Amino acid sequence: MYDIIIIGAGITGSFIAHNLSKRQCKVLVIDKEADVANATSMANSAIIHAGYDPKPGTLKAKLNVLGNRMYPDICKELGVTYRKCSAFVVAVDPDESKILDTLKSQAEDRDVTCIDRSGEDARKLEPNLSPSVIRALEFPDTGIIYPWNVAIALMEEAVLNGTELKLCEKVVDITKTSSGYTVTTDKSVYESEYVINAAGLYADRIYEMALKSKPDYSIIPKRGEYYVLDEMAQTVVNRIIYPVPGPAGKGVLVIPTIHNNILLGPNSDITDSPDNNNNTASALNYVKQNVGKTVINIPYDKVIRTFAGLRPSGNDGDFYIKESESLSGFVNVACIDSPGLASAPAIAEYVINEVMQGRFNYELKSDYIHRTPIKYMNELDDEAKNEMIAQDPSYGEIVCRCCLVSKGEILDAIRRPVGATTVKGVKKRVGPGLGRCQGGFCEPLVVDILAEELGIDKTQVRYDSPDSVMLVDKM
Ligand SMILES: Cc1cc2nc3c(=O)[nH]c(=O)nc-3n(C[C@H](O)[C@H](O)[C@H](O)COP(=O)(O)OP(=O)(O)OC[C@H]3O[C@@H](n4cnc5c(N)ncnc54)[C@H](O)[C@@H]3O)c2cc1C
Repeated sequence: MYDIIIIGAGITGSFIAHNLSKRQCKVLVIDKEADVANATSMANSAIIHAGYDPKPGTLKAKLNVLGNRMYPDICKELGVTYRKCSAFVVAVDPDESKILDTLKSQAEDRDVTCIDRSGEDARKLEPNLSPSVIRALEFPDTGIIYPWNVAIALMEEAVLNGTELKLCEKVVDITKTSSGYTVTTDKSVYESEYVINAAGLYADRIYEMALKSKPDYSIIPKRGEYYVLDEMAQTVVNRIIYPVPGPAGKGVLVIPTIHNNILLGPNSDITDSPDNNNNTASALNYVKQNVGKTVINIPYDKVIRTFAGLRPSGNDGDFYIKESESLSGFVNVACIDSPGLASAPAIAEYVINEVMQGRFNYELKSDYIHRTPIKYMNELDDEAKNEMIAQDPSYGEIVCRCCLVSKGEILDAIRRPVGATTVKGVKKRVGPGLGRCQGGFCEPLVVDILAEELGIDKTQVRYDSPDSVMLVDKM
């Protein structure tokens, strides 16, 4: 019997699991995917928004501002990268400038730092801003992360401290019992006192399983598509460039990433299915047209890939974070679309301290263990690199030439708690395949290393899910 079962190992479930792992309680996390952060938390803009734009009075407004303030310390504690890169929200005409007035006053009300700049002043800092930009609000506390790195680090530390994690297990039924809940997966049956539903795009279906009737919220999947530019394009902008927000959300952005790529996107289109994350020519054209309104000189010959992510949007526009009125101990952490990533650490605290008000009041552990951060060779100076190689020569064997990832880092990614078991899992943790060649050179080498480390045949190595076969037979 567990105290708490968390369904979903995205950024939301990972922050909640990490927070609970500091306390004396027995927690199980279940996810249908082959890795942590493999759904919405994998494919998004990766921005820790400052929190000036959510509608006043919403949970989004409250938790975004709090989450933004929590990220720098949490990332430091976990040993993962957080970069405060700042952002401009730009206006191209007087009507848009009026929207900036509203954002500025919301920022002041929320104590979010905001600098009002003329178009000319903004262009001195960002020379590729369009000549049409007449005014910009700068939000210096806007940050960027790699969301999956944060989620994996959180889950790794939670597991080190006793949390159990079951991947590749799909929850198929939930039943209320006299002492809590029975959660049935496609592989096993588990009992717990409480259930936290952090199932993203499937949260409404998970709640329906427990309720045995339609819930009072529904998830509307909204797809956003992106171009990724090679790091050679990194000088296009230094800050994130947002247009003024509209009814469809924050609009099409130009975003620097932690690995010095540039993202262009996203659009926002309602889709028919929570699994349809295909790219479409029409959405990518829309992205191109809209980027051009705020930023010029985009080098489209430096596009190295495209991708799409799906927002688990709710039907009333705000996060839905509540204990069920009819099912005591069943907590929905649902409708977590943007700014869900930025809000996630504050969402975890809100669930534990406010929604459950003392019922998760387990004693804090005195012997909490911190993870050892991954050492990335391309972040070390020559002396530190040589020391690593002297200790373990596999750190001198470069596997990914684009991102300069060594065999030692790949072995570490596989061997650590919540280690990589797939090619995508290795890519998410240490980066081979993220660069210009997109794995063309290093992927077969990663397959070899995974097969050897996991003690399996190469034909059994998967790209991601159990059906993503890479090699079918030996020649
Ligand atoms: C295009 C786009 C851009 C965005 N940009 C930003 C941004 O810049 N900043 C920001 O703050 N937010 C952004 N967001 C929103 C942010 O990505 C989400 O709010 C956040 O990732 C949601 O995390 P989650 O953990 O709630 O959901 P998820 O990451 O989707 O996790 C839910 C998990 O539940 C699992 N699950 C579902 N059903 C079952 C089942 N039956 N059994 C077991 N497991 C199950 C899934 O496999 C999944 O891993 C963006 C979203 C999109 C799509």
